[in-house]
Amino acid sequence: MTRAGERPTPTVSALPHAVPKSAMPGMVWPALPDPPASRLLALQLQLEQSQWWPPEVIEARQFEQLKQLIVHAQRTVPFYASRLGGLGSGPTFDRARWMQIPVLTRQDVQLNKESLLSRAVPPQHGAVGEASSSGSTGRPITVYATDYVTLLWQAFTLREHFWHRRDLAGKLCAIRHQPDGGAMPPGGDRLTGWGPSTDIAYRSGPCSMLNIKASIREQADWLVREDPDYLLTYPTSVFELLRFFREHGLSLPRLRELRTFSEATPADLRNVAREVWGVRVVDMYSAREVGYIALQCPDHEHYHAQSENLMVEILNESGARCGPGEIGRVVVTTLHNFAMPLIRYDIGDYAEVGAPCPCGRGLPVLKRILGRVRNMLTLPNGERHWPSLHADVIHKVAPILQQQVVQVGLNALEIRLVVARPLTAAEETAVAAHTCASLRHRFSIAFRYFKDIPRGPTGKFEEFMSELDT
Ligand SMILES: [Zn+2]
Repeated sequence: MTRAGERPTPTVSALPHAVPKSAMPGMVWPALPDPPASRLLALQLQLEQSQWWPPEVIEARQFEQLKQLIVHAQRTVPFYASRLGGLGSGPTFDRARWMQIPVLTRQDVQLNKESLLSRAVPPQHGAVGEASSSGSTGRPITVYATDYVTLLWQAFTLREHFWHRRDLAGKLCAIRHQPDGGAMPPGGDRLTGWGPSTDIAYRSGPCSMLNIKASIREQADWLVREDPDYLLTYPTSVFELLRFFREHGLSLPRLRELRTFSEATPADLRNVAREVWGVRVVDMYSAREVGYIALQCPDHEHYHAQSENLMVEILNESGARCGPGEIGRVVVTTLHNFAMPLIRYDIGDYAEVGAPCPCGRGLPVLKRILGRVRNMLTLPNGERHWPSLHADVIHKVAPILQQQVVQVGLNALEIRLVVARPLTAAEETAVAAHTCASLRHRFSIAFRYFKDIPRGPTGKFEEFMSELDT
């Protein structure tokens, strides 16, 4: 059965009453955590405070840290020795000087892999390991990072749980890419906790994992059996899953929140999740090579840049900073990766800058994450934008299991479909009409049918792609 209406968002008084694990015999509260947990919680205390600082204070602290990074990069990273000139040497280091540093492209990182590595990483930063990103552009890069960067990843994971007031004792289910090919249906895999970020400091509830290669029916069967409190998965596949639940009258009675990551969120996902499961969607924006970029505000649907982790800049075509309402390239600088500093790195996505948030946090607001250039539609008059396909409407006119729209010419689209049965001519006409209406142009449309439309190598799915040369 489906349920209408959303459960109320917990108030501050309903905050989970979690106490860290104690390392002191006989002492459970207040806990005295062991050294690794203490480090994580020491960072957490600072993140808890810095989120409320005014934007100018946050930026001043960022530049203090950036100066450290610049001096280190100039001294020990061959690629930056000449590129940064004397930037870090003056007594002050501010935005005007910062904006002179050229943007680092994905291709720069690919071509200069060796010379981007530091020759002298401070040993206190820990061992250096690899973090690869295949990226949805299909151009893989490899980034090296220290143990300290991993610790920060964990601290921001924990911040995200706290922001969204999760009950750490609840059951988490995750349907995602599995690099080792494991967690296949019907059973998936079971873990004893939510993962190291949580388990270092807290006792967390059970976690069940399923490989994203499972079909929607297999995912639905597994979820009904597992009956989770929280579900973490990709926004495009969960959209199909929600439709399956609606069509088959299934429910997840305990579910409290749908967590999404890795892909741009389809336009009507939040409404459909509210309608079918009665839950809100909490999205996050992160990348393997740089960590958490932005997290959804606890009180709104937009995102806060994670300024304690990265300098996040949204830049227009001429390289200037975008203001509220403007869309630009996402350029990030890792503040703490002394093994392979990425300074003003163009990650390949676009985002819209938002106005300051009424929640009172000083962390900059990103209103929307728009994905990549290749996910942009080009209209014959030259206008370009990221389309909203309103897939839910299209799915109501025909028995579609999966769809992808590809722009193959200035006036031409290919609609790729996986269907429950062959569509009638009238259904094809209706799908074409709805697609043209949501894209605001009468394209000529060809249909292509597939058994399955595969995801990218890391599980990413693109619901709209353009094959035009851009
Ligand atoms: Zn906010």
